[in-house]
Amino acid sequence: MAVERKGRAVCPGSYDPPTLGHLDIIARASEVFEQVTVAVVNQPVRKQTTLYTAEQRVAFITAEVEKHGNVQVKTFDTLIVDFARAEGANAIVKGLRAISDFEYEFEMNQLNRKMAPDIESIYMFASPQYTFLSSSGVKEIARFGGDVSDLVPAAVAARLGEDLNKN
Ligand code: ADP
Repeated sequence: MAVERKGRAVCPGSYDPPTLGHLDIIARASEVFEQVTVAVVNQPVRKQTTLYTAEQRVAFITAEVEKHGNVQVKTFDTLIVDFARAEGANAIVKGLRAISDFEYEFEMNQLNRKMAPDIESIYMFASPQYTFLSSSGVKEIARFGGDVSDLVPAAVAARLGEDLNKN
C-alpha cells in the first residue's frame, strides 16, 4: 500500500551551488510531504556574497526536482517562518551533517520555535555519502580544478570551475 504524503514543508538554504547532498534531502522530503517548497535565500545571511544569483540557483534546483512532481523552488528574503506561513507550510525541513550543523541548528530551532510555535522544524540526517559535502567545500575543490562531478548536478559541474575563475 502506498504511504500517504501529508503536509507541506519548506527546505531553506543558500544552495550556492546546490549539491547532491541538498538534492538528497529535498528528494527524501518529497517522499514524506505532499508538497515541498525549496526556499532559496535571496539575501546573503551567513555569507557575504554568493557565486550565483538567486535566479541561477533556482534554475539549477528546478531542473533537478521537476521529476518529483511535488517540489517547487522559490526565493525568499524574509524570516523563514514568515515564508513558511506564506506557503501554508507546517514544517521546515533541514539536513544535518556534523556536530557543527547541530550547534547552529539547535540555536535556530529555539529562535524559530519562539517566533512560530505552530511550525515544526524537522531534521534529516545527511545520507552517509554526503555527510562531508558542502557548497563551500565544492567551490574550494572546483576553484583549484578538482573534479566535482560526483558532488553536484552535472549542469553545475559543467560550469563551476569556469564561473569561479572569472572573479
Ligand atoms: P551549505 O551549508 O552547504 O552552504 P545551505 O546553507 O545551502 O548549505 O544548506 C541548506 C540546507 O541543506 C541546510 O539544512 C543544510 O544543513 C543542508 N545540507 C547542506 N549540505 C548537505 C548535505 N551534504 N547533506 C545533507 N544536508 C545538507
